[in-house]
Amino acid sequence: MDSDVRIDLHSHSVASDGTDTPAELVTLAAAAGLDVLAITDHDTTDGWAPAAAARPAGLTLIRGAEFSTQIAAGDRMVSVHLLGYLFDPADAAVVAEQTRLREERRRRGMAMVQRMAADGLPISGGQVMRIADGAPVGRPHIGQALIESGVVESVDEAFASLLGGPHGYYLPKADTDLATAVRLVTAAGGAAVLAHPRGRGEALALRPAVIGELAQAGLVGIEVDHPDHPAAARAELAAIAAAYGLLSTGSSDYHGHNKTLTIGQETTRPDQLVRLVERTSGVTPVLGELS
Ligand code: AMP
Ligand code: ZN
Repeated sequence: MDSDVRIDLHSHSVASDGTDTPAELVTLAAAAGLDVLAITDHDTTDGWAPAAAARPAGLTLIRGAEFSTQIAAGDRMVSVHLLGYLFDPADAAVVAEQTRLREERRRRGMAMVQRMAADGLPISGGQVMRIADGAPVGRPHIGQALIESGVVESVDEAFASLLGGPHGYYLPKADTDLATAVRLVTAAGGAAVLAHPRGRGEALALRPAVIGELAQAGLVGIEVDHPDHPAAARAELAAIAAAYGLLSTGSSDYHGHNKTLTIGQETTRPDQLVRLVERTSGVTPVLGELS
């Protein structure tokens, strides 16, 4: 792959909590000058087929998902997202765990909405389920309901005031143990990469030695360049990756208008993607002309 190939390895569609359809996502990626895009919806692979069907000829599509996981830090559980790339979507253990995670998202989302409604906020569970439209329920869907009902003006405002934990109406969910999720993705032929390990409180749990243990469990890489990472965090993560022989990735974590960032805003070096793909045997990249 040429070194000027542009690669974004983390994006969301309406199959989870983004606002572009999978078809719009791949079209947008190509229009933004990307050569490779990974679709990584939360806890589902439902966007894979429509994204592959609508893929512009020049774009390579990496099929992935973002798994909801947790790890202990002292007596606290810390939420960590794990990107799984090119795993077998029919793997029985993956199917079972993604099904459980989606049910857990629905249960937790409805419990948050119930608490808001009990305090007089004009939103309902039915409204949030309509907005999610079959996708795994996420806080951005609740944020959209709050916009629709005139409570807030943006999803960012909803997170800052009502949805962000541990304040407001945030409730945790029973996510997969992180090391178990790394093994799950790996056993299904995928490559496991820690998503934004210095994004929102993960640093408490993901100390360098812990990341080293995850590498032993099969972790392939860490998302070093992410919009939520300040320069110092990127430098620290690059050093951790080098120390444990992990790949470094970069990605936008694009969510459409649920978040104020641009697709392709952060990118992955081609040599890192080549090595990542070499570690997989679940499904292949859907190739564009450049590959
Ligand atoms: P949940 O997965 O339901 O806990 O919701 C968290 C998801 O909301 C993460 O994937 C975030 O990327 C996404 N999100 C969208 N907008 C925001 C925001 N303004 N602040 C924090 N997270 C956000
Ligand atoms: Zn994400």
